[in-house]
Amino acid sequence: METKLLAEGKDPMGQAIRDYFETGHAGRLRVFSPQFDEDELPVAALFRTEERMPKLERTALDLCRGRVLDVGAGAGCHSLALQQRGVDVTAIDISPLSVEVMRQRGVESVAADLFDETFSGCYDTVLMLMNGSGIIGRLERMPLFFHRMKQLLAAGGQVLMDSSDLRYVFENEDGSWDIDLNAGYYGELEYQMQYQKVKGEPFDWLYVDFDTLAFHAQANGFRAELMEEGGHYDYLARLLC
Ligand code: SAH
Repeated sequence: METKLLAEGKDPMGQAIRDYFETGHAGRLRVFSPQFDEDELPVAALFRTEERMPKLERTALDLCRGRVLDVGAGAGCHSLALQQRGVDVTAIDISPLSVEVMRQRGVESVAADLFDETFSGCYDTVLMLMNGSGIIGRLERMPLFFHRMKQLLAAGGQVLMDSSDLRYVFENEDGSWDIDLNAGYYGELEYQMQYQKVKGEPFDWLYVDFDTLAFHAQANGFRAELMEEGGHYDYLARLLC
């Protein structure tokens, strides 16, 4: 199991976050995937304030209680919003560049990989937003993910996670599919990012529909609740032990 923090020269998003924090603007953060055409991630969006967050994310903030762990916190937008509400929050990210920016923004943050067991703690809420299921990477890592949640959650604790059902990308109006359904789960994507000359390694990123998430939750001793649906196949789930 790789439990690596990102080196600066392999961390395009972290570089973009640092540039945006220091200068107020950043270049193009390019996103490549074998499954999709080249895309771009707007860096300013990583610095969104609560007013600019999608409804699902604001609902997630409303549902936070107790000590919160913001996983894959990026520039720290949710941690900052929670702090402004007086919530006790810790952020983690595998990008030391992003963690440095979060610290400068006043967020208590740790450079750590969620799957690295040397990172420990006891939280009432684990928050994973902006397709938070992505960090799980692949369906086969669900047992490992739930194992980590058991380690990190206090009794009665909850995970709040958003994702999207990517079926709308692959399913035609007549119900046929553009992909081989035997090839694996359609929400398992591979991404690679580039910022200026800095290119990251390819990584796995999981989009998961609610029923599949609920199935894996149950198989691993958790219960999934559908808290809210967004406007476009996206949803917010709560996972309880
Ligand atoms: N949640 C933030 C950022 C989303 S981008 C927001 O909504 O704006 C996803 C972030 O997850 C990136 O900053 C990436 O470095 C981090 N990440 C990816 N894998 C991770 C892991 N295994 N552990 C912790 N953070 C991870």
